[in-house]
Amino acid sequence: MTTLKADAILPLKCFVPDSHPTFEPTMPDAQHPLEIAREALRRLAMRHLQPTPENYRSLYHEIAGTKPDDLFPERALKLVCSTLPRLNQGQIEFAQSLENAVASRSWSAISGSLVGLLRAQAAPQRKWKALLKDIFRQLERQHATLRPTQKFQALQQILDSSNGELDALYIRLSALADKWESDSDSLDTPNAVGVEAAPIPVDNSDAALRELFAHTLEGVVGSLLITAPELREEASQLGQLLRDVRDMKGVDDLAARLRNLIYRLNWVVDDQAEIRTGLLSLLDLLLKNISDLVLDDRWMRGQIDALRALCDHPISARELDEVERRLREVIARQGSLRGNIDDAKHQIKLMLAGFVEQLGSFSDAASGFGEKMDGYAQTIADADDIASLQTVISDIIGTTRDMRDTAERSRTEVDNMRDKVRAAEAEIERLQLELEQTSEKMRHDPLTGALNRKGLEESYAKEVSRAARRHSQLCLAVLDIDNFKRLNDTYGHSTGDEALLHLVATVRDCLRPHDTLSRFGGEEFVILLPETTIDDAVIILQRLQRELTKRYFLANNDKLLITFSAGVTIVETEEAQRSAIERADVAMYQAKATGKNRVVVSSQPALAS
Ligand code: GH3
Ligand code: MG
Ligand code: MG
Repeated sequence: MTTLKADAILPLKCFVPDSHPTFEPTMPDAQHPLEIAREALRRLAMRHLQPTPENYRSLYHEIAGTKPDDLFPERALKLVCSTLPRLNQGQIEFAQSLENAVASRSWSAISGSLVGLLRAQAAPQRKWKALLKDIFRQLERQHATLRPTQKFQALQQILDSSNGELDALYIRLSALADKWESDSDSLDTPNAVGVEAAPIPVDNSDAALRELFAHTLEGVVGSLLITAPELREEASQLGQLLRDVRDMKGVDDLAARLRNLIYRLNWVVDDQAEIRTGLLSLLDLLLKNISDLVLDDRWMRGQIDALRALCDHPISARELDEVERRLREVIARQGSLRGNIDDAKHQIKLMLAGFVEQLGSFSDAASGFGEKMDGYAQTIADADDIASLQTVISDIIGTTRDMRDTAERSRTEVDNMRDKVRAAEAEIERLQLELEQTSEKMRHDPLTGALNRKGLEESYAKEVSRAARRHSQLCLAVLDIDNFKRLNDTYGHSTGDEALLHLVATVRDCLRPHDTLSRFGGEEFVILLPETTIDDAVIILQRLQRELTKRYFLANNDKLLITFSAGVTIVETEEAQRSAIERADVAMYQAKATGKNRVVVSSQPALAS
């Protein structure tokens, strides 16, 4: 039998397990590690077990009432740590934390590190900061095989395809950062020792794109910079550089200049917005003062009020057209009518001058008459014979007849003049009235206030060219009130007029601000619908029909339903007004023929314009 000498065979110090704390409270008080060790040795001997560390360990734990811990596999874990990838910030951090945990031989630290890794994978957004740092670092780095634009494109593609799924985005971005990291390795070394990198040629596959961008800079941006010639020049130079750029260094310089241009452009945009606001408030001030000055001129005030109403909110290109149209009318009609009124006034002045002259000659004649009469009275007093009296009497009769003729003539002339003055006054009044109504007469229908044919022509021309410029769709509709004659015949013409006003008011409320309504004739209207598909045009017209059924029209206490039939068509690019209207008209008649109160889309192909 082998006797074991504990101290010699089993160095107790080594076999008191590391993880054993100074014994848990479950240990019996008497059990000191030394006692346990002794007991373990005793049992080893008693049970005739081989004195191996494993046997000793298990007996030790048996006595202590604890669980045997596994041996700490430090070497194996360190090996694992050394093979961990360290391609991005997140990976570097994880590898370091695991290494520390292994070095401290702490299972709980290892477990903490692994849990951290799993959490980071489950909720990658926690690591976004590190990932973004990596991405930015890689973007700034020079790569042997990658141009900056390619890197941006790759990034853009990933962002575009993420659909807001952050986890997937994180994984794809991480993969991208890893790829860039491995690509950049080859370049890092020579640069580190100061070797100049060879110029990286630009890939010409995007030449068309660069040409387009250059064109945008020279043409579009340039044309917006009329007030900033030096920026315009810079934009044009950058356009040229963009075409000529040969290597990546050129791209970097260009990008820096572009950034600077954009920065300065922001200032120009701000300035222009300020100038526009300033001009509008100046115009408002001007109009307000003019309106105060022309209190007596109702027509002018009407026009100015309309202009102010147009200017009191952010103004669109269409409304600017309207402002210009109205101002031109004010200026043109006022000029010509004022001229006519001035002529009429001048005539009155001339007549008055003539009248005064006549009055003068009449009073001259009258004063001469008095003097002559005094002379005749003296002659009569001095007369000795009847013969001399006879001469005086015939002189008196002659003078009196002359006087009567002069008075007669003067009266006739005064009467004539009075008639002329009255006629001139009537003309002035008529012209004033015309002046008052003039703008409505020129482009607007006087009854309904909708555009008239002339107004439609102008508006059509503008919308057609606007649609061509913007490549947008313009639709045109022809509307005709149903059974309007019957309404006129039953309720009278003036009720018919009111029905027209009712229709126009309803149309105005239903249409969008940029749609225009024109009275084409009688009870027929044309509506222009810019930037509208044919389907939407039909929807708009049907909405209008529904609205008319809600807003009944009152005639002699009768609630009447005004309905219309409509034909609608797409206006072809640059198409003449007449051909578009004819096409819509045909569709409108189909609507009439198929029961009225309906909208029909033209099936006829557009005529070649
Ligand atoms: P349909 O449904 O087929 O269009 O029949 P309708 O009666 O509406 O059409 P029709 O062409 O037979 O008659 C149109 C009428 O509109 C005749 C005309 O007296 C009337 N009209 C045209 N202009 C005016 C206007 O300014 N005021 C009034 N009150 N009536 C007008
Ligand atoms: Mg009609
Ligand atoms: Mg009709």
